[in-house]
Amino acid sequence: MKLPQSVQIIEVGPRDGFQSIKEWIPTELKLQIIDSLIEANFKKIEITSFVHPKAIPQMRDAKDIVQTLLQRYSDKDVEFVALVPNLFGAKAAYELDVKEVTYVISASESHNMANVKRTPAQSFEGLEELKNTLPNLKINLAIATVFGCPYEGDISIEQVKWMVKKALHVEVDSITLADTIGVANPKQMHSLLNELKKDFKDVDFALHLHDTRGMGLANVLAALQCGVSRFESAFGGLGGCPFAPGAAGNIASEDLVNMLENMDIKTGVKLEKLLDVVQTLKNKIKPILTSHMAYVDNCKLGEK
Ligand code: ZN
Repeated sequence: MKLPQSVQIIEVGPRDGFQSIKEWIPTELKLQIIDSLIEANFKKIEITSFVHPKAIPQMRDAKDIVQTLLQRYSDKDVEFVALVPNLFGAKAAYELDVKEVTYVISASESHNMANVKRTPAQSFEGLEELKNTLPNLKINLAIATVFGCPYEGDISIEQVKWMVKKALHVEVDSITLADTIGVANPKQMHSLLNELKKDFKDVDFALHLHDTRGMGLANVLAALQCGVSRFESAFGGLGGCPFAPGAAGNIASEDLVNMLENMDIKTGVKLEKLLDVVQTLKNKIKPILTSHMAYVDNCKLGEK
């Protein structure tokens, strides 16, 4: 098996995870958790989202979160990313000195219409405007519903390739392929990534996977075999659908770290510290956790 020697894990729990929790999480607690994630040695964290507070009230403290963290960690080598839905959000982030944003466009037209009331082509126009207005802001384009859409079902490879071409044309800094609703399977992962490699062999795609149907880590393995070495995940497996209690969220960072480290693939993340963060989450916020490692109490961790 040909596998990478190391993998970068981008922790997205404070954004994708917290936004799925209805009950207000005090800003201080959010900051305390992000501090602990940094202590666990994550080097890149998606910390918030500059969306309209009416759309996602949980993210209404985006400004405070960003200001505090940028000040607190000005001399530490940790990168903070914020999600932005549009130019307005990007400007707000940029004014606070955020260096990188994630901008989402769905590969499925109906999903994109439902989310932002635009066709994918219109969203790309918005992205181009963002790039021209804020040329110094790094942009990670997340292509949503790559592996399947709740409205349209399968997404064609041609559509995904069209999206990637458009993204390269706009000169985004990185591209993330997202399995937004957790329907990907490992065989599909292989064929999609191999197809993309034919046309875009120099693009270093990241993956954003949800574990809705329990295929998350199997998909990670398939992606590793295709040369992917950047993954987004959320501590505790947060990020479940707020309309389907118990439905699994993102792949859990601790499960991912545990699997990779046991396969001798370096992540740099300190698993025990990460599990402490998960305990804090369990005790103070009490979400439904779908992570496996969150419940492995009795075995000695870190011992191989
Ligand atoms: Zn997600």
